[in-house]
Amino acid sequence: MVFSVWISRLRSSSKPICTKVRNSFFHKQSAALSVEVLGSEQIRKPFASSWGGSLLPLALAASAGSLVFRSYQDNGTSYCQAPNLDQTGKSIGGKGSTDYMVKGSHKKVPQELIEKLKVICKENMTMDYDERYFHGKPQNSFHKAVNIPDVIVYPRSEEEVSKIVASCNEHKVPIVPYGGATSIEGHTLSPSGGVCIDMTLMKRVKSLNVKDMDVVVEPGIGWMELNEFLEPYGLFFPLDPVKPINLRVASMVFSHACATKGSLDPSKSAGPGATIGGMCATRCSGSLAVRYGTMRENVINLKVVLANGEVVKTGSRARKSAAGYDLTRLMIGSEGTLGVITEVTLRLQKIPQHSVVAMCNFPTIKDAADVAIATMLSGIQVSRVELLDEVQVRAINIANGKNLPESPTLMFEFIGTEAYSREQTLIVQKIASEQNGSDFVFAEDPEAKKELWKIRKEALWACFAMEPNFEAMITDVCVPLSHLAELISRSKQELDSSSLVCAVIAHAGDGNFHTVILFDPNEDEQRKEAERLNHFMVHAALDMEGTCTGEHGVGTGKMKYLEKELGMEALKTMKRIKAALDPNDIMNPGKLIPPHVCF
Ligand SMILES: Cc1cc2nc3c(=O)[nH]c(=O)nc-3n(C[C@H](O)[C@H](O)[C@H](O)COP(=O)(O)OP(=O)(O)OC[C@H]3O[C@@H](n4cnc5c(N)ncnc54)[C@H](O)[C@@H]3O)c2cc1C
Repeated sequence: MVFSVWISRLRSSSKPICTKVRNSFFHKQSAALSVEVLGSEQIRKPFASSWGGSLLPLALAASAGSLVFRSYQDNGTSYCQAPNLDQTGKSIGGKGSTDYMVKGSHKKVPQELIEKLKVICKENMTMDYDERYFHGKPQNSFHKAVNIPDVIVYPRSEEEVSKIVASCNEHKVPIVPYGGATSIEGHTLSPSGGVCIDMTLMKRVKSLNVKDMDVVVEPGIGWMELNEFLEPYGLFFPLDPVKPINLRVASMVFSHACATKGSLDPSKSAGPGATIGGMCATRCSGSLAVRYGTMRENVINLKVVLANGEVVKTGSRARKSAAGYDLTRLMIGSEGTLGVITEVTLRLQKIPQHSVVAMCNFPTIKDAADVAIATMLSGIQVSRVELLDEVQVRAINIANGKNLPESPTLMFEFIGTEAYSREQTLIVQKIASEQNGSDFVFAEDPEAKKELWKIRKEALWACFAMEPNFEAMITDVCVPLSHLAELISRSKQELDSSSLVCAVIAHAGDGNFHTVILFDPNEDEQRKEAERLNHFMVHAALDMEGTCTGEHGVGTGKMKYLEKELGMEALKTMKRIKAALDPNDIMNPGKLIPPHVCF
């Protein structure tokens, strides 16, 4: 294997020009670390540190959407009284709709409720314009906002959440739960104003049960923070939706942007990254889902505050249970429309003894997809199979000064014992070579592995840096594995003939792929073209018995596809559940269930 040659190609030659990265958006109190650890007598205790300071979670500046009502700021009009709002609040969705903007309605929040919230939340509440604007603004979503929340509350306990929700319910005021705001489909927007419940102060690890391999956490903790905590115990939580990149990488991307356009501002990228609560609420997954499953498989139970303020625990701590309706799974993926998650018990995994990271190039994207499928069919339990198209690889080369072959590329991770990981690697190398694969390289040395895997980790950010002034529409279709090659090939034809820059990145082992479509937000035609491509891929996936969203969720953006995907009876059933649990429709209204669904 010519790994050393490859490694030298991977090494970045770019020197950061702009190293000053501001990370001071909202300094929030970091919750004290108090954790009960059970069954770990012989294990090294974790370091007690302020996690908040050690991480630099970066949100997606390049794709941050805009507030359509920005101009109202200057004339003194309340943002929540912006004209042109459809007072019915029901104008998006429905079959075939191509709208990307939810029109909201807004009612004044009663002073009585504000007074109650002040008593409940004390100093952890604000009506400050900047914070409301920040929470109402799309952070990582290309959807536009028509309103901002009236009040932001930062509860510190389940009891506070319960009181807040009960009070809002009494006054029929909308609530939007808020985690890391990394969701992509407009999930955290506040089209009807109301109260935004920012959960990021609730980030305690409540108990770690080493012998049971589970952990009980509050919802505001980030998955990276959790993994930092778990590492000394030899355990980890295997879902990885958004990787906050480190300062060096941030400045590399930034330096490139400075050199080319001079406008990517990493200070816009402050934020806690994806939180466990938000990850539950979106039923998220990531690159490791092919091995460990999605949030659906990795949550043991939840505690949830319902719309009337009642607290429900959805299950025991047993790994499996046949006791009644599965309320845990009902809440997973409910996107804050059924309740506010206040506690999560998560299944953990042992950090693998050994791993190998491999990479291989292909002449066409279909060849690469075929090899991903063949690998899965071989029965090998890969822990990651990620596919990058040539546009994505080019972005990495440009952003990070690398010299990778600009062709469709598969990246693998194999885990287990040393012998088993190597055996898997060699089997996949054979599969790849039989199907037009070339330049198969692999790494076992920790530094070399890090260097290789960094390519995948930085891929999206490199892509955004190609056009720092543009927004990114990130698509998320998923199909049964046997259709993946066909779907990707058909999509690539369409994407390649578009005038927009489109890069493909896939969790290929799950049949899930994303396209990052870069468009100029000031050019309506470009936005429409991005939307057209998105539509094309969603409908192609639905025609292949797939889904409009493999992992990002519905928010407002995917509502329009649900009738075709699920059928009206399924949507009516969802609406009945919603109406039973939230009769006043206060929980994240205007999201997930299309407004035209009636029962
Ligand atoms: C660059 C990038 C890459 C990404 N890659 C992936 C990927 O590989 N896989 C993947 O699955 N996702 C991915 N995502 C999407 C995103 O990270 C996930 O959707 C994530 O799960 C959202 O978590 P969050 O804490 O940011 O939630 P938020 O965005 O804050 O909220 C998401 C939804 O959950 C609700 N919510 C938040 N907290 C609670 C709570 N405590 N109780 C009830 N409801 C709540 C909100 O109301 C909202 O509806 C990516 C996003 C970006 C920007």
